Amino acid sequence: MSHKSEFSVAGTYPYNHKNAIRWVISHLMRYKFFLVATATLFTVAYAAYAQSAVLIGRAAEEILTPSSGTEGALVTIALLVLLVLVTDGVASLFASLSVETLAQRMEVDARHELYISLLGKSQTFHDRQRVGDIMARATDDVKQLNFMVNPGILFMFDLVLGFAVPMVYIALIDLRLLAVPILLVVLYFITASDYSRRLNPVVNRLRTQFGTMNARLEETISGIEVVKASTTESFERQKFRDNARGFRDYFVQQGRIEAGYLPILIYGIAYGLIFLHGIFLYRADEILLGEVIAVIGLFSVMRFPTILSLFALTLIQNGLAGADRILTIIKTETELDENREGISRTIEGDIVFENVDFAYNGTNVLGDINVHIRPGQTVAIIGQTGAGKSTLTRLVNRTYDVSGGRILVDGVDVREWNLATLRSQISSIEQDIFLFSRTIAENIAFGAPGATQEQIEEAARAAQAHDFILSFQEGYQTKIGERGVTLSGGQRQRLALARAFLSNPRVLILDDSTSAIDSATEGEIQRALRRMQEGRTVLMITHRLSQIRWADVIIVLDQGRIVASGAHEDLLRSSPHYRRIFARFDVELPPLEAEEPAA
Ligand code: ADP
Repeated sequence: MSHKSEFSVAGTYPYNHKNAIRWVISHLMRYKFFLVATATLFTVAYAAYAQSAVLIGRAAEEILTPSSGTEGALVTIALLVLLVLVTDGVASLFASLSVETLAQRMEVDARHELYISLLGKSQTFHDRQRVGDIMARATDDVKQLNFMVNPGILFMFDLVLGFAVPMVYIALIDLRLLAVPILLVVLYFITASDYSRRLNPVVNRLRTQFGTMNARLEETISGIEVVKASTTESFERQKFRDNARGFRDYFVQQGRIEAGYLPILIYGIAYGLIFLHGIFLYRADEILLGEVIAVIGLFSVMRFPTILSLFALTLIQNGLAGADRILTIIKTETELDENREGISRTIEGDIVFENVDFAYNGTNVLGDINVHIRPGQTVAIIGQTGAGKSTLTRLVNRTYDVSGGRILVDGVDVREWNLATLRSQISSIEQDIFLFSRTIAENIAFGAPGATQEQIEEAARAAQAHDFILSFQEGYQTKIGERGVTLSGGQRQRLALARAFLSNPRVLILDDSTSAIDSATEGEIQRALRRMQEGRTVLMITHRLSQIRWADVIIVLDQGRIVASGAHEDLLRSSPHYRRIFARFDVELPPLEAEEPAA
């Protein structure tokens, strides 16, 4: 795989990503044994089954031309019929087992491949994707791959062998009798490919529609608070109904196309024709009556695969449509590269922004940013909402890459660092703290999976979280609801801090990290924060005067540009912008430098 990725697993199986068909084949080829086993077992099963028709023809012949040995011959034939049918049953059984194993393995592999590729995609990619649609691809589309193999490909084996084996036996009786079966095969190919051609667009739209429906559902459920607060339930319901109906309509369309599947009709006509042909040859004394019976029996074997092929084609079309949707995601180029060979060492914490520009999809958000932050400094970034504060901090750990200029960490461009090394040493506590639906201990140890219970508790103590954790009945083993709904804002903050303590980063980014906190816990959080700050470089987005004051450097952002930077006292004296921000706090402002003589 040559795709750029932020995360990849070494030595993964080299699947072919050229197109959906090749991708599916490369997945199947991983299990050559099961493919060969299935084909072999199916051949045995069909050969045995077809043989039974031949044997029954022979029995009819024995009855029609009785002799002294007839009775014994009939018993032998009956026993042989039993034997071949048992062989057919056993071989079919193992063939099913083999193909099911193949289907399940392929499903797991494909899901795994998609999952790893999702982990490796950049933030920009995920910003653009609808979660529900991705989920549909990872669950339903992957499932279609499974169905495509079993029973889809299984039915295809049925089709090929169910046609080929009886034709061989028919040929053995009389070559001329192949005329009708060959005509059937030719007409089958023409009608079946026409069927596939018509089915293809409908199936593709069906898959897409499922993704759309799922995405809508996911959004509504995730945003249920907003939906309820704005009483738009009936609107959402209508939307969902439209989507669900769209999905249904494509299914009905599919059914309509399926109803027009001609091979079954053609088979019926061919059945009459081969009967006539057989009778004709019998009347001309070319073949025996028993052989006519055998031929009819053999031709009947072909009926089942003809019917099954209808489902096989639909399942294969569905599988390929799903494969295409999965592959599209896998193939989407990621802007960032994990840079495995990049620099990997402990970060000191010296950060330089050098003429940095940044745009989200062409919209400029930051321009001409120049800052030098020294190891161990605490920098407060202030400015109005939308000024670009969060964006600025996200460039340091390469959540996004700069559009222009560069960012140096310890004198090295962030793009030259090994991405995993860089990110593992930069912790970020976001405004909206995400907790997983796992235990408290697991949430704290999220970035450090090997952590012991002692280490986890130590981190929790440092983050002033230990006490409230113990107040829960199950302590550290308490499970957190999705997104930590059962915890208060302040408790979540402290868990996030504990998580940061444990991962012991060299650079810490705090995004409005105490905004959700009541004054009762603020003191505790402040204490935890100060401990956290020791010996680390800290970038802090905040509106809190107390925090701004203890920063070494303050950066004032306005519409994506730095309008002032420096220490608190200096800025108060030199920057009208800074003073304006402070005017809302009840603090005494020193006179502006420029105004000093007048005052
Ligand atoms: P702040 O943190 O100062 O409130 P942000 O850095 O969050 O500001 O946002 C700066 C600008 O970038 C805003 O105009 C915002 O709408 C835009 N923005 C933020 N995140 C994204 C994103 N993921 N995609 C596109 N635009 C974004």
